[in-house]
Amino acid sequence: MVSPASKVSTQLYLCPICVGGEWRKSQGRTDTLRNPANGEEITVVPYCTGGEVEQAVQAADAAFRSWRQWPPAQRSRILFRYRQLLEEHLEELAALITLENGKTLEESRGSVKRGIEVVELACGIPTLMMGETLANVATGIDTASVREPLGVCVGIPPFNFPAMVPLWMFPLAIACGNTFVLKPSEKVPRTSVRLVELFYQAGLPAGVINLVHGAKEVVDVLLRDPRVKVVSSVGSTAVAKYIYETAASNGKRVQALGGAKNHVVVMPDSDLKAATKAILGAAFGCAGERCLAASVVVTVGDVAEPLVRELVQAAQGITVGPGDQAETKMGPVISAAHRERVLQYVELGQREGARLVCDGRAVKVDGSPEGYYLGPTIFDHVRPEMRIAREEIFGPVLSVVREKDLDGAIEIVNKADYGNAAAIFTESGKVGREFASRVQAGMVGVNVGVPAPVAFFPFVGWKNSFYGDLHAHGKDAIEFYTEKKVITSRWLG
Ligand code: NAD
Repeated sequence: MVSPASKVSTQLYLCPICVGGEWRKSQGRTDTLRNPANGEEITVVPYCTGGEVEQAVQAADAAFRSWRQWPPAQRSRILFRYRQLLEEHLEELAALITLENGKTLEESRGSVKRGIEVVELACGIPTLMMGETLANVATGIDTASVREPLGVCVGIPPFNFPAMVPLWMFPLAIACGNTFVLKPSEKVPRTSVRLVELFYQAGLPAGVINLVHGAKEVVDVLLRDPRVKVVSSVGSTAVAKYIYETAASNGKRVQALGGAKNHVVVMPDSDLKAATKAILGAAFGCAGERCLAASVVVTVGDVAEPLVRELVQAAQGITVGPGDQAETKMGPVISAAHRERVLQYVELGQREGARLVCDGRAVKVDGSPEGYYLGPTIFDHVRPEMRIAREEIFGPVLSVVREKDLDGAIEIVNKADYGNAAAIFTESGKVGREFASRVQAGMVGVNVGVPAPVAFFPFVGWKNSFYGDLHAHGKDAIEFYTEKKVITSRWLG
């Protein structure tokens, strides 16, 4: 028996799997993960065998029979306890996220808090699951619609939010009476071990959540297993499309969130200080590894010169370093390979003819020569058809496109393949309203930067940023994780 991580250790840690409430070592092949801040080996992640994945599904399927019968209020009590435990372990979870993902402790804390908000939403499940009734639909006949859980649900999160994205998925699914198999990103598996362990500590019955590790092969077993009824995945667009098509063709309900390229439009009348601060946070927060990263700024009219000046000056003041150090404002990217990929985009931008006005490639971090660091990087005079303006780079690289008017700016946003989020800065209510109404993106910000909706609203991507119908969290999630049943009755006796 392998004991789950009970506190954050930088010693090499072997990730266990959890099947039917039992923690054990996987028999699959393994890979060794490194701390992005210094390149040291920290985690051994297994790639589960097909048999182990099937056992996890079997355990979830078996647990479903009794869990679905639990009164929603009793399920909710476990979620209240889980919420409390997550709060109590917030610092530990944040340290774990920073260790395996690299982002700063402040960012890690913030992301756990956003995840806890989803658990808080799930605590209200008795009200959220209520159905509808109509008496006397015909003489002496009543009709009621009730919501029922669907069965075994699967969660396939990405590497960039090791706690928050899994917490978008399993608390709501389980609150609705489903059971769950979680397959975290093979790049950040440890945080999920702790999330599952704490859920069991809150009193969850054995088998209601199960944890397996791995990548495509493990996902494929889950997508093809007939006992799996629901799939929620978050990742790059190519993977989202594949998961959506494969899961749907196997008869499953599926939501697959994909990549993004988010635009921020800055009008000449905007508050430049506020716009600069928001753009900087959205472009370079989490080292740009966010599906809500601001990656293209579209300047309108003569705002370009002063805005670029402010952005470059502020970006050059960002301290890059290990995420666990107080002075660090931007941590490393996830891996050496990903750093290389981002560097290639910077070279591509130069070849495409964009002007590199802030070059983060040579950043040096004292004491951490092996970390995967990049400094904030800004391209000016980018044209919308350039690849750096169209493709998701997923690193600290910002493109500035200069445009003459609002119509042109909206056209640039609407021509993009992705449609996660778009934002505008303006002092004009009329312009803000027009932008919000015409722009083709699922999450729109007006003078707030790129907004991540709170848990009570859905997380809405459009176009290539989302495949499916019902979105993550908000009321959509209750629809997604339940099936309606309409009962019509007449009592003759
Ligand atoms: P990824 O697509 O490489 O992996 C996502 C998940 O899918 C992982 O669990 C991984 O193991 C699995 N996976 C990878 N390849 C697979 C394959 N061929 N078949 C089946 N499963 C596979 O993504 P990532 O690099 O971990 O995360 C970054 C991406 O996630 C970015 O594109 C980012 O925009 C996106 N993302 C989107 C949102 C959103 O809300 N839309 C949120 C966070 C991240």
